[in-house]
Amino acid sequence: MDPRVQQFMAMIKAKNPGELEFHQAVQEVSESLIPFIEENPRYKHAKILERMAEPERTIIFRVPWLDDKGEIQINRGFRIEMNSAIGPYKGGLRFHPTVNLGILKFLAFEQVFKNSLTTLPMGGAKGGSDFDPKGKSDNEVMRFCQSFMTELFRHIGPDTDVPAGDIGVGGREIGYLFGQYKRLKNEFTGVLTGKGIEWGGSLIRPEATGYGATYFAQEMLATRGDSLAGKTVCISGSGNVAQYAAEKMTELGATVVTLSDSNGFIYDPKGIDAQKLRYVMELKNIKRGRIKEYAEKFGVEYYEGKRPWVIKCDIAMPNATQNEIDGEDARLLVKNGCKCVTEGANMPCTPEAVEVFLNAGILYGPGKAANAGGVATSGLEMTQNSMRLPWSREEVDSRLRTIMKNIHTTCVKYGTRHDGFINYVDGANIGGFVKVADAMIAQGVV
Ligand code: NDP
Repeated sequence: MDPRVQQFMAMIKAKNPGELEFHQAVQEVSESLIPFIEENPRYKHAKILERMAEPERTIIFRVPWLDDKGEIQINRGFRIEMNSAIGPYKGGLRFHPTVNLGILKFLAFEQVFKNSLTTLPMGGAKGGSDFDPKGKSDNEVMRFCQSFMTELFRHIGPDTDVPAGDIGVGGREIGYLFGQYKRLKNEFTGVLTGKGIEWGGSLIRPEATGYGATYFAQEMLATRGDSLAGKTVCISGSGNVAQYAAEKMTELGATVVTLSDSNGFIYDPKGIDAQKLRYVMELKNIKRGRIKEYAEKFGVEYYEGKRPWVIKCDIAMPNATQNEIDGEDARLLVKNGCKCVTEGANMPCTPEAVEVFLNAGILYGPGKAANAGGVATSGLEMTQNSMRLPWSREEVDSRLRTIMKNIHTTCVKYGTRHDGFINYVDGANIGGFVKVADAMIAQGVV
């Protein structure tokens, strides 16, 4: 490792003990940025990277609620307001039992770069709770969301901090959170994104992350004169991002052969077409069932406790969670002919896996670029809320496509090596950094 990176990481680790995912995210970024900062000393003198690695504000709070048996449950709520140099804090809420400070700090840190890449005026944040919505009744989820918002409402606002969904937070949760915010503040504003279409939501927001990651893959393939037509795609996850990635991939001529959840994956060699995907959406979003039921319904293989990366594919699209592709998975994917990895999830590849992809010279689109379509469309939802005017589906989709194209262009600008290889990791890290860094310098020591 570059000794300058090593020294910087020693400081980060000492200041943030035990926050492994945060260390991982900061290290990846600093490997791209420290050499760039050395060449641009004004960023070094202003200690921009050191400042960016320290949240502007961290809020941790108790979330008590009553379950259906009348028993008191206690969860922990978080909001990490990481950086507001280029706009109000913006980033999702995650409800999952694994949530802790280190995971949310990694997500908030990545969010700053991602939001900058979209070119929209949004700072970076992330939040959530160790609450597990799985197996809870609608009433329990509602009572939890109301209690969570009863503390969070005093820290957020349409011009301050605008949360959205993430793992475990979809349309249902956003509805309960918005209802409680409105009740507490007595105002109807665009304080959350991912809202229902009847009450301030944007068309295409639910689809945006999966569609955007697919558009990003299209752009990457085009640099090699290739396209999605006829490609075999392995997708992990079966939630919001996975569902709409599968929809768009199929629409653009690819065949999606896997989906997964935390219990295992299904392999459908004939492809998960539009009709089968409707079944998945109902299974996951309404019945809240397990992906295993797909295998029973359509008579295909189900692999309990396994991840889809053992299946031969042209494109891998990790859309579930962090560190879901390790070095071994990556080597197998490359060996099986995978040419392109586009990350719908945040940091789904371990550092070793990323190294395998870069060394193999395949197209590797990191999450902060590839999955930025979600937050970009949240930004478009904020614009529509401010104007009090909704845009059509076509209008939002066309803006999303343009944003993904522009993000790709930024990655090419900052990530192209002397030999012509595009290192999208460097491209996204440096491209996302410059705008935030310049704004921080302009705003003084804050
Ligand atoms: P959902 O909650 O809708 O779906 C998550 C999916 O991933 C589910 O199928 C879930 O399975 C699976 N999963 C979650 N945790 C694990 C785990 N530890 N191991 C294996 N599988 C797991 O979330 P989203 O689709 O919204 O988010 C997926 C990823 O995309 C996350 O990394 C998120 O940060 C990222 N992302 C999301 C955006 C959005 O707009 N929603 C925007 C940008 C990035 P199960 O049901 O069994 O838990």
